[in-house]
Amino acid sequence: MTALNQLTLTEAREGLAKREFTAVELTESYVSAMGEARTLNAYVVETAEKALAMAAKSDERIQSGEAGKLEGLPIGVKDMFCTEGVRTTAGSNILGEFVPPYESTVTSQLWRDGAVMLGKLNNDEFAMGSSNETSALGPVVSPWRREGDSAPLVPGGSSGGSAAAVAAYLCAGATGTDTGGSIRQPAAFTGTVGIKPTYGRCSRFGIIAYASSLDQAGPFARTVNDAAVLLRSMAGYDVKDSTSVNRAVPDYEDAVGASVKGKKIGIPREYRLEGLDPEIAGMWEEGAQWLRDAGAEVVDISLPHTKYALPAYYIVAPAEASSNLARYDGVRYGVRVPGRDVVEMYENTRAAGFGPEVRRRIMIGTYVLSAGYYDAYYVKAQKVRTLIKRDFDDVFALGVDAVLAPATPSPAFGIGEKSHADPVEMYLQDIFTVTVNLAGLPGISVPAGFSGKNLPLGLQLIGRPFEEETLFSLAQVIEDAAGRFPVEDLWWKA
Ligand code: GLN
Repeated sequence: MTALNQLTLTEAREGLAKREFTAVELTESYVSAMGEARTLNAYVVETAEKALAMAAKSDERIQSGEAGKLEGLPIGVKDMFCTEGVRTTAGSNILGEFVPPYESTVTSQLWRDGAVMLGKLNNDEFAMGSSNETSALGPVVSPWRREGDSAPLVPGGSSGGSAAAVAAYLCAGATGTDTGGSIRQPAAFTGTVGIKPTYGRCSRFGIIAYASSLDQAGPFARTVNDAAVLLRSMAGYDVKDSTSVNRAVPDYEDAVGASVKGKKIGIPREYRLEGLDPEIAGMWEEGAQWLRDAGAEVVDISLPHTKYALPAYYIVAPAEASSNLARYDGVRYGVRVPGRDVVEMYENTRAAGFGPEVRRRIMIGTYVLSAGYYDAYYVKAQKVRTLIKRDFDDVFALGVDAVLAPATPSPAFGIGEKSHADPVEMYLQDIFTVTVNLAGLPGISVPAGFSGKNLPLGLQLIGRPFEEETLFSLAQVIEDAAGRFPVEDLWWKA
């Protein structure tokens, strides 16, 4: 029999409904797997006691026929989500031992539907990064390794803990946040499914802010169906977030397996970068063929402003971050380093509390917002953002239902392999994902192939606003053709 923690979320849901095992047994299998996987550093806080208590309650509700949609299913939570009574760090020292007195809306909806919380998952500091190496709590190690090579690889970022934990069977699904690719890129690196829904689909209330006009929550899962199940519980209107949209949440699971006949899929010419990794290019072509075989029509399209997306993102995101992070001043939360006066106290606290990448972003953000530079950088970037959104509007107006592109320009790289002296090298990881956040669109990453060294590669599908269902049906076609990407060598347990 498959170990309980290796069942997909959908399989576990069935097993619980058929009383093949209890929620407590399922939770225990995850808790023990977590105990054996600490070298991966995926969890920064394990809440085993709380999980077992929640699972016992789930078993009672299953017994009495009151089970919720996620009853008894064990979930991990990215440490960007505030969890009531459970330490929340955002991967930063500056929050110290901060314990939120309230729960984020997204996680509260998971618990409302009966999910069980296993703990908090590591991430890049304030979600700034593409490798989980900027976390003050240390890097996460991917459960994947290159063939014949035991060098530790990054799981991607910023939701590195979520991606690694889902891939390594340390939770049945996890929450992530995606500001410029932080769900889709780590999903691609770890052979998992990750979706960033349309901006406004999930409430941002209680999620620690990075760049508010770009941040969205979404799930990580081992299958497309599992991701659909999770998103249904996470999504929805919230009076506490004025940017959340009051629109009914569909049952996304219905879309999984739906026909894609006649869907029009656009292949953006501008994403065919010069020198694109031939393995990635090959997977992209293969993915297009799978969709054609399933009855979709594949057409070439142009998104002419694509080349300006990365520079625009790296102005808008740091600008918003510099403003959001102004609240960490040593007065209200976490760490405080005293000084001779209040200004020195602010300076000492922020210098000690923030890591180098966060400090860099604050400096860039403050600079582009400063008088004299505001029009040249920030206003210009906002204009570019409008043009990027218009590019997508134009192709959707031509009848395109979704855009197909790679999720990342390369497979996972090694921890410490990318130079930190040149941050742009890391920023280039986001080349295929940031456009989607700038335009507020939904994007899903689904495992689609392997690199020569046997590492997973992901394809990305980008949809019209609030048409996540189309993405789920197309992603299922890719999952059916590519197969699933289970980690088979559980080397970390040795
Ligand atoms: N890598 C990007 C950044 O560092 C995106 C991160 C994210 O989506 N949170 O800004």
